[in-house]
Amino acid sequence: MIIEPRVKGFLCITAHPDGCAKNIEEQIDYVKSLGAIKNGCKSALIIGSSTGYGLASRICAAFGCKASTVGVFFERAGDVARERPGSAGWYNTQAFTKKAQEEGLYVANINGDAFSDEIKQQAIDAIKQSPLGKVDLIIYSLASPRRTDPQTGQVYRSVLKTIGQERVDKSLDTDKGTVINVTVPSANEKEVSDTVKTMGGEDWELWIKALEKAGVIADGCTSVAYSYIGPKLTYPIYRDGTIGEAKKDLEATAERIDNTLKLYRGKAFVSINKALVTQASSAIPVVPLYVSILYKVMKQKGIHEDCIMQIARLFSQQMYNDNCIEFDDEGRARIDDLELRDDVQNEVFGIWEKITTENLNDLTDFAGYKAEFLKLFGFGVDGVDYSKDCQI
Ligand code: NAD
Repeated sequence: MIIEPRVKGFLCITAHPDGCAKNIEEQIDYVKSLGAIKNGCKSALIIGSSTGYGLASRICAAFGCKASTVGVFFERAGDVARERPGSAGWYNTQAFTKKAQEEGLYVANINGDAFSDEIKQQAIDAIKQSPLGKVDLIIYSLASPRRTDPQTGQVYRSVLKTIGQERVDKSLDTDKGTVINVTVPSANEKEVSDTVKTMGGEDWELWIKALEKAGVIADGCTSVAYSYIGPKLTYPIYRDGTIGEAKKDLEATAERIDNTLKLYRGKAFVSINKALVTQASSAIPVVPLYVSILYKVMKQKGIHEDCIMQIARLFSQQMYNDNCIEFDDEGRARIDDLELRDDVQNEVFGIWEKITTENLNDLTDFAGYKAEFLKLFGFGVDGVDYSKDCQI
């Protein structure tokens, strides 16, 4: 079947298996080019392992540290009868699995709702079957718009809204390539608490409790969850908005999990990562415009990083290789340091003030943004013949 991109707003509903496989290969090659990571993890559980930061973490664990990996994700397989390609995360996982197994690494994939007790149990069973029988690294990298509470069955939905006053801000219509004004409405109390329930720390803590109860936490185990702060420019819709409340809850949860993992001479913390084009971030108002400007400035300065570069830096320069994590005053790892450098943010702000549809292509890396967005789904990848029939 010939597969073409079908973009609907911030979603691409098709994905290309060969393009996704090539993306995985590139990420593996990058990690290998940095050399083996010394004293790295041996057995990792990655919750949200099929795309973005979680996928990069899985690749670093497997190909940097030679670790067994259990990956948990929510993806769709291809449907041959209906000629419907699978999701990018499905193809990413297939390609990752093939490469890791070729190197003799243990791989287990759990496809389903990570918020459910059933999927937690399936992951625990897979960990028990792994060579170590336990995990010494637990990455929590979920980005989900809804969560079903496993105890009550109630469904919670997260919203991307401000808290307090509604906010009119510049944003990008990525389909039309125009700079527009968006009104981000303010959330009511229920929307704030539902967003915290969905994207906050409760589920991370439930995972740790389930793993502990099953006796599969190894000595010295580290658990990391990913979060974002960003510049003052995006505070009203991100850090001070509903999603920011959820992230603050996640960060507070790290302290409690840290106390639990100390019993195993381990630790838990949140890593604050850089803003990047991923399936999750492209859905946030204002962020795609900010990211297009940020990419331009960071590329010009030669300090742009993508997911795999960010996580490889976290693994090889902070978590492992005889290094230690440089925590900020609130106990968080900061790999957003380059994004938040004063010279970077001053330039970003200068561009933000004068950006219009007319100068969008000159002043921002909108072209890079679009290319990277399509690449997430395996399109526009060098070396892939898109005119060739491929199997879904
Ligand atoms: P992403 O959309 O690329 O990945 C999300 C992952 O979660 C996928 O593997 C998906 O399959 C999985 N998932 C979603 N719902 C699930 C469910 N119910 N059950 C099982 N798996 C499920 O997102 P991302 O941008 O890599 O985000 C990951 C984390 O990193 C988030 O916490 C996000 O806030 C954080 N982060 C992202 C950015 C950014 O700019 N993208 C920056 C800093 C921090």
